[in-house]
Amino acid sequence: MDGTPIYPSYETTDVIICGCGPTGAILSAHLGRANVTNIVLEKQADISTDPRGIALDEDGIRALQSVGLYNKVYSEIGRCLGAIHFISGTQQRLNKAPFLRINFNTTEGGTGHVGGMSHKQPALEANLRLAMKSTSNSSLRVGSTMTSISEDDDWVSVTYDDEQGIEHRLKSKFLVGADGKTGFTRKKYLEPRGIRMEQASLSVLSEQILCSKVMLTSTNLEHLIKRFGWL
Ligand SMILES: Cc1cc2nc3c(=O)[nH]c(=O)nc-3n(C[C@H](O)[C@H](O)[C@H](O)COP(=O)(O)OP(=O)(O)OC[C@H]3O[C@@H](n4cnc5c(N)ncnc54)[C@H](O)[C@@H]3O)c2cc1C
Repeated sequence: MDGTPIYPSYETTDVIICGCGPTGAILSAHLGRANVTNIVLEKQADISTDPRGIALDEDGIRALQSVGLYNKVYSEIGRCLGAIHFISGTQQRLNKAPFLRINFNTTEGGTGHVGGMSHKQPALEANLRLAMKSTSNSSLRVGSTMTSISEDDDWVSVTYDDEQGIEHRLKSKFLVGADGKTGFTRKKYLEPRGIRMEQASLSVLSEQILCSKVMLTSTNLEHLIKRFGWL
């Protein structure tokens, strides 16, 4: 015996991800490509078809490219925004000469991608789930609702209920809450411990957006990056 605690009833993995929206799915695909095993818990049985996200900027396009989806970007996921015309005046007439025209179709400058595109979020998510399947390291469990989180110095443990209401237990070195701003991780775990999303000034907005998408318990993002050498 080396003193390591034994949790016979817990399934283990490298990373548990709660939520399989765009954030959880692309993280899972990245981890899988980096040979990091991960289990994604998603409470819904299917991808939501509610109209939600509509635009991806060039970094979003790069993110899709980085999980091998570039050939799907303009064929299935969306299309370029084209040129945006700005017109002045109060008349409800749109066929006026614009005082400013921004061409989002150009790939000049920036990252080599177009400046922005419109997308269909269900198609985006379906393709991200295909990217998750490109390795055997990612396991998606739909109909699985995370119900508790606990942690000690070594492990973070969660319980989740499957579609039949049967409780399961998982433990891991890392948990990523990608369950949205009203999700379990934020509302039931972080906020009761005083970790809140506060209104931020514009200067810290980008940092805040990152935090709203990926909140780590057990340890911090820097540790995760160092440990697995990705991102
Ligand atoms: C009504 C609406 C309109 C929007 N309009 C726009 C728009 O016009 N343009 C735009 O760019 N963006 C828009 N958005 C935002 C865009 O949809 C989000 O930015 C994007 O979906 C966030 O992705 P995510 O993966 O972080 O979270 P989500 O897509 O919210 O995914 C979180 C996932 O976690 C799952 N989950 C939650 N709790 C649990 C649990 N306990 N156990 C297991 N799984 C759980 C949920 O089922 C969900 O699938 C809109 C969002 C909404 C809700």
